[in-house]
Parts: sequence; C-alpha cells; structure tokens
Amino acid sequence: MSRYLAKWTVSEKEKAEVSYVGYANLPNQVFRKAVKRGFQFSLMVVGQSGLGKSTLINSLFMTDLYEDCVYSPSPQRMPRTTEIKESTVSVEEGGVRLELTLIDTPGFGDIVDNSQCWRPIVDYIDSKYEKYLNDESRVNRGYTEDYRIHCCLYFIPPNGHGLRQIDIEFMKQLHNKTNIVPVIAKADTFTPEEVVRFKKVVLQDIADNGIKIYQFPDAQLDEEDDAANQKLREAIPFAVVGSNTILEVNQKKVRGRQYPWGVAEVENADHCDFTTLRNMIIRTHMQDLKDITNNVHYENYRCTKLANVSSVTGSATDKIAPSRDPLAQFEVEKKEHEKKMRRMEEEMEDVFEVKVREKLQKLEDIKHDLNRRKEAMTRTIEQLERDLNESKRQFDEDKRQYDIEQQKYMEQVESQMRQQAPA
Ligand code: GDP
Repeated sequence: MSRYLAKWTVSEKEKAEVSYVGYANLPNQVFRKAVKRGFQFSLMVVGQSGLGKSTLINSLFMTDLYEDCVYSPSPQRMPRTTEIKESTVSVEEGGVRLELTLIDTPGFGDIVDNSQCWRPIVDYIDSKYEKYLNDESRVNRGYTEDYRIHCCLYFIPPNGHGLRQIDIEFMKQLHNKTNIVPVIAKADTFTPEEVVRFKKVVLQDIADNGIKIYQFPDAQLDEEDDAANQKLREAIPFAVVGSNTILEVNQKKVRGRQYPWGVAEVENADHCDFTTLRNMIIRTHMQDLKDITNNVHYENYRCTKLANVSSVTGSATDKIAPSRDPLAQFEVEKKEHEKKMRRMEEEMEDVFEVKVREKLQKLEDIKHDLNRRKEAMTRTIEQLERDLNESKRQFDEDKRQYDIEQQKYMEQVESQMRQQAPA
C-alpha cells in the first residue's frame, strides 16, 4: 500500500510538468509564422491636387519614395502626380519585415468637369479586390498575396468652411470600398483654435452627409487601449503638415517648414497630428485596418460579385448563393466551371467538325481537279497519238510514192542508157 502511495504522491513541479500539454505555445507558433512571412499593407492618398499628398506619403514612412526630396536642405519641387502611382518598399524593423505599398493618386480639381473623377480610383480599388478574389478562388492556391487597399487618407483642403460638395461625393463613393481616414491638409495655415473649430465643422459635415469613415474599435477589455482610441477619436480628422525639407532646430535635425516667424515641425505633436496619424497607421491600428478591409469591405465586394454571378448563372444557383456558405459557394463555382468546360468542349468539337468538313471538301476538290486534268491529258495524248498515226500514214504514203517515182526514174535511166549504149 505504502508503495502505491509513494508512487501517486507527486510534487507541484511534477504536477505542472504532467499537466503541460503544449498548446500554450500556439501563440508563439502563430507569431513566428507571421514574422517569417512578413506583413503587407497598402495605403492610398486621395484628394484635390496640390494639397500635399505626395509630400506626406514621402514623410510618413521615412522611406525614399521620391529620393531627391528626402534629405534635401532646401524645398524641392515635387513632380505632379498625373496617374495612379504605386510604389512598393520593403522596410524592416527589429526583424519584422513590412512590404508597404503606397498609392499616390492624381489630384482632382485641375479640370473643369470633375464629375466621375472618383471612377479611376474606385476601379483601382475594385481591381485589387478582383485580383484577390481570383487568387483566393484558384484550385491550387497557396498563400494569397494581399495588395488590397487597407487605408485611404482623404485630404481635405484647409478652407476653413467645411467639406465641399466634391469632397462629400468623393468620400461617399469610397466609403463602402475602403477605410477612409480624413486628414486636414496643410494644417500650418491654421492657428490652433482654427484647427479645433475646422475639425468640428468637418466632423459635422461627415455626420450630416452619412459618410462612413474609419471607426476606431471599442477595446472593451483593455482600459489603456480604450483611452488611446478615445484620444484618436478626438484627433480625427487629423490635421497634418508635410515637408520634404530637413531643417535644424535647437541643434536637432527636423522635418519642417520654415517661416519668417519660426518652423512648423512635421513630427512635433504640438504643431500637428502627423505623429499621431503615423502611430495610428503603423503602430496601433494597422492590423485593425487590415481586418476591416478583409471582413467588411472585401466581404461586401465579394458578396456583390458572387450575387451578380449567381443572378447570371440561373435559378439553381440563386437558391444557394445568398447563403454565403463557402462550401455551397464552392459547389456553385465548381458546377459553373464544369458547365463552362462542357460548353468549351462542345464549341471545340464544333470547330473541329467544321475544320474536318473543310479539309474533306478541299480533298474532294483536289481529287476532282486531278481527274479533270487527267481526262484532259488523256484527251491530249489520244489526239497526239492520232496525229502521230496520221503523220506515219502520211509518211508511209509519201515513201510509197517516192519509191514508185524512184522506180520509174531508174527504169527511165536504164532505158536511156540502153539506147545510148553502142550496139
Ligand atoms: P499633391 O498634388 O497633393 O501631391 O501635392 P504635393 O505634395 O505635390 O504638394 C504641393 C505643394 O504643397 C508643394 O509645393 C509642397 O511643398 C506644398 N506642401 C505640401 N505639404 C504642405 C503643408 O503641409 N503645408 C504647406 N503650407 N504646404 C505644403
């Protein structure tokens, strides 16, 4: 009995060792895998021409997108963006690799007719969803590269009055497609009080017009996160200053704009919200922006797309598609694919049959032509034979005549010789 007791009396350490199965290590596995694969993030800037979009994205990630301008001590003229421009940079920090795609869009407002000026941008965002959907639906799919637009910085002109009709319309066109983060451009043109007042006016316009901008999540379990999110909510729309000029302030190199009365520092939180915006995008909310892109905007796109497909593919499909059950959807897509393959096969068979028929007809024509030529040649040969026989007959006749005449002549010569010969 005591032997048994000794066996079953285990220490706390042993207990811990026995009860440790290992699934507590799962987060580390996920973490290692994610770090190994790296992260992808795409940021787009949209707004009227000349509001400092290109300047800001150049400063935002401290990468040399517009190389000439980054470390210049004096202001450089930025090239005007005339088409949607994608720049991908791979940045690494503390062993974590981030593939960052920055999309600079041509500013609108330069032309007289700005109706539909959002179309190329909406199409561009859709094209990224389309590509993702196609990649995801492939039969042999591995890891799907994510080049969807995760965040769109919408630049509001610092006019002091509020949103213009074109800004309202533009944001409405985009708000169901991507996460809109509104920013007030060139905030150095405002005094601090004006910025506060203008932010209120803009937020009111956004609410009045039912524009859905990116909402910071409710971090219900974490008070610290909640306070940070509340701070961010109060800062929106972020008032930003952009600059490509490195200046020296108090023996420190800073990015800023030099004015006769001082320097507006880009990364100084007392001067503008640039740092808050950058921290929000990179440090605190990048994953949330990606999640919302995937779970809300991409899902919207996918459902609309699949609903369109199902309405085209007929009633049988209609019954299944709205359920959004991936397996049912897969079945629908599979059936659709098989139908398409069958149709293609039938079409190919038709084409093949036509081709065979054409070839046979061609052979028949050639045979007919050869027969015709053979008959013509036979006729020619027969004619030649007839001509030859005629020539031979003529020749024989001529020869016979000749022989007769020859005979006659010889007889004459002979008789003459006999007469002349002495008796
Ligand atoms: P984009 O057309 O929106 O891309 O604008 P750009 O980045 O090309 O900038 C247009 C002009 O505005 C350039 O001369 C910039 O130096 C200037 N600019 C950019 N950001 C700011 C800013 O925050 N404040 C002021 N005052 N000017 C800026």
